[in-house]
Amino acid sequence: MNLTELTIAKTHEGLVKKEFSALELTKAFLDKIEDLDKKISAFITVTADSALSQAKKVDDLISQGKEIPILGGIPLAVKDNMMIEGVRCTAASKILENYIAPYDATVIQKLKSHGAVFLGKTNLDEFAMGASTENSAFGPTHNPRDLSRVPGGSSGGSAAAVAADLSVYALGSDTGGSIRQPASFCGIVGLKPTYGAVSRYGLIAMASSLDQIGPMTKNVADARIVFKAISGKDKKDSTSVELEIKDLRFKIKDLRIGVPKEYFIKGIDPEVEKSVKNAIKKLGEAGAKIQEISLPHNTDDALAVYYIIMPSEASTNLARYDGIKYGYSASDAKDLMDVYMKSRGKGFGKEVRRRIIIGTYALSSGYYEAYYLQAQKVRTKIIEDFNKAFKSIDVVIVPTAPTPAFKLGEKSKDPLSMYLADIFVTAVNLAGLPAISLPCGKNAKGLPIGLQIIGKQFEEDKILELGEFFEKL
Ligand code: GLN
Repeated sequence: MNLTELTIAKTHEGLVKKEFSALELTKAFLDKIEDLDKKISAFITVTADSALSQAKKVDDLISQGKEIPILGGIPLAVKDNMMIEGVRCTAASKILENYIAPYDATVIQKLKSHGAVFLGKTNLDEFAMGASTENSAFGPTHNPRDLSRVPGGSSGGSAAAVAADLSVYALGSDTGGSIRQPASFCGIVGLKPTYGAVSRYGLIAMASSLDQIGPMTKNVADARIVFKAISGKDKKDSTSVELEIKDLRFKIKDLRIGVPKEYFIKGIDPEVEKSVKNAIKKLGEAGAKIQEISLPHNTDDALAVYYIIMPSEASTNLARYDGIKYGYSASDAKDLMDVYMKSRGKGFGKEVRRRIIIGTYALSSGYYEAYYLQAQKVRTKIIEDFNKAFKSIDVVIVPTAPTPAFKLGEKSKDPLSMYLADIFVTAVNLAGLPAISLPCGKNAKGLPIGLQIIGKQFEEDKILELGEFFEKL
């Protein structure tokens, strides 16, 4: 048995049946990381010692005959924008290069209470700004399915770790596609929960009205397990809510799937279009009712709105990195203003600086009404589009990304073409909806293609159930 290839359920079974110990399992992953991650660079920090002692604790419980939670003893990787107490947390930025997290994020605390084993922190685009994991101060991550290509982003390290069997599962964050797009590029499953379903406490903020943490896994059943473990109300995040996890009895014949025409547009890769349409057809043949719908403010408008609202929120969130409170501080500054200018100028990479400038501009007096306020109005239109559509359908199915994984360097010099990679993912964040990306095929080169199932707010159960149904199909 290859220990690193198992799902959560199978790993749990093996641990409980004592087919292997948590220590053996953890060592197998650490060895594999040592061996393979030289080529992939999924990890920024590997926490081998603490992982081994976490594993040992679970083995002790098992040998005492105690019952262990489903995630107990199971190794995972965490995107390096979530805090694990005592572990370096960089957000892939030079400005936080040596920053040690002073507390646990709520999701980490929850997983620790399950006895999870933390293998380390994964690479991302700096402050989660990007779609390729090339905007990292620690160098790019390579897609394990083809090392000359990007893993997607910004949770590219987490996606690559799961795809290369360097961890059983991983946590990612999704502000404008950062869980779903890398999941689709690497051929794994990624769930972006409803806004508020998972606490953001201890997640380094990018755009606070859009950010959500979610699972990246080998299959849909695993995504459900991790989602259940990390979701729920947290008094440290006032936007979080208690979830009522319903027990749906799934009947494919009762399911109405909406296919919005705005997502099958010029510029989409023909193999992606074919693969997603084929998947929809299969669901139709299985009994689902397929309906063409229109979400008029999705895709183009949503992307434009996202690239106003996200940098506006990011520019205010990133004001806290002033060279004094956190992280890197320029040593050659003459006065306070010079500390700010030099620390931020040297500490932030190019893309982060670009977004701070765009956001500051959009929020400044005289431009606010034309950009930020206007964007908020169109955001409301996007929400209304979905509300209207969900009166006659249950879920929406669209491609996750317009293309499969692109080559390293292919878009990194052209920010606009990089932003276009987000065209199918940002509306979901703007409307606060849950969406899951799962593999639906491969192109002629063998690169994975992903489809996205979008649900109503707090209907994670439904999209997970449909996802599992599709996997079996
Ligand atoms: N590609 C998106 C961006 O660059 C992803 C952001 C995210 O979800 N963290 O903004």
